[in-house]
Amino acid sequence: MSKGALKVLYTLKDAGYEAYLVGGCVRDLLLGLHPKDFDVATNATPEQVKALFKNGRIIGRRFQIVHVRFGREIIEVTTFRGPHEDATEHATDEGMLLRDNVYGTLEQDAWRRDFTINALYYTVKDFSIVDYTGGINDLKSRTIRMIGEPSVRFKEDPVRMLRAIRFAAKLNFHIQHDDEVSIKNALDENFHLLDAVSSARLFDEVLKLFMGGYATAVYELLLKENMYQQLFPFSKAAQSEFYSEFVRQGLKNTDLRIQQEKPVTPAFLFAVLLWPEVETRTKQILQHEKSVFQAINLAGHEVAEEVNQHITIPKRFRYMMYDMWALQVRLPNRGGKRAYKTLDHKRFRAGYDFLLLRSQVSQKFENSNDLNGFNNEVLASLSTWWTNFQAESDAGKKLMLKELPGKPKHKKRK
Ligand code: ATP
Ligand code: MG
Repeated sequence: MSKGALKVLYTLKDAGYEAYLVGGCVRDLLLGLHPKDFDVATNATPEQVKALFKNGRIIGRRFQIVHVRFGREIIEVTTFRGPHEDATEHATDEGMLLRDNVYGTLEQDAWRRDFTINALYYTVKDFSIVDYTGGINDLKSRTIRMIGEPSVRFKEDPVRMLRAIRFAAKLNFHIQHDDEVSIKNALDENFHLLDAVSSARLFDEVLKLFMGGYATAVYELLLKENMYQQLFPFSKAAQSEFYSEFVRQGLKNTDLRIQQEKPVTPAFLFAVLLWPEVETRTKQILQHEKSVFQAINLAGHEVAEEVNQHITIPKRFRYMMYDMWALQVRLPNRGGKRAYKTLDHKRFRAGYDFLLLRSQVSQKFENSNDLNGFNNEVLASLSTWWTNFQAESDAGKKLMLKELPGKPKHKKRK
């Protein structure tokens, strides 16, 4: 349990306020998991909270909250929220809430949260859990249950649909579908509303979905609920057996890296998610364009810019993706000084990892044929070559280059 969170709870309590741990941290602690962060809810206003903590800062977005910092840890302190007197006044025609910033009581705060398992409160006043919505039962039966009517709550904030998928995947819970008001049906009916969510927020949510260490489970759930296609409309190509296996393996590798506490970058994630479409389009462009290099750059920019319309991928990540994709065409060309130049490329490591992934997946498909016209065997030997080349001494590198077969001659077409 976080020392910082306890300090905040006791300081607020001693000053005469109500204060509770709430949300993911209570849920995860009850499940025996390590919470990612600790959130506190209180009846003190942001100014009153700030007055109690030297290390507190008011962060103002739609709703003011206080960040209390302890070294590297930040405890988020939020004042109880309540419902609007007239919610329709602050909603779009579709029912999406534009403002959500009225203070309320503990009970009101509970009812406006998304899922019952996220609306459990823990207090150090008597070390008890407060549960207005039935969250404890749902934790026991491993159920993601919406507070209130799913369809209405999804319309208020369509991101809750992605959150339902995320928690189901992360916790290995099932999404409630036993009542008349089924979350599953509501997902089907409302998923198109994600279009109305800002593209910056969608980028954040996609990262939360795929970079939490359980991306494979998220992917399977999205496929099962027919939502993957809607989240990434460009991804027709990803439906093929080959490419769904490619995405699955890419996500598996990402999950593994996160487990091993190795760094992962959004650029690699998106390079994987978009690759089915990028490679497919590259092959199409090659029907009337000779240079694979130009074709992949064209296809890569096209796809990334289309995606960017509804999921903003920050520029630095987009540029890294372009480099990684272009390296798939550069890595085979090793003659002269080219292998050394490629090795020095600032994205070499990511491009090489991407090649390994492509090769790994192609081994499961005998008749694979990549954008360079390579099958699984050529990809495997190319990957091995680069693995060895990196490990070799200077002399060894020279020898490897000498032993390279001459430039492959294109077969003459009759
Ligand atoms: P994680 O482990 O991913 O942090 P979390 O449940 O803590 O999961 P947060 O995004 O940190 O999720 O949000 C904290 C709490 O705020 C949630 O548990 C939930 O009670 C509430 N909440 C967050 N986003 C929403 C939303 N879109 N609609 C309603 N309640 C929300
Ligand atoms: Mg949280």
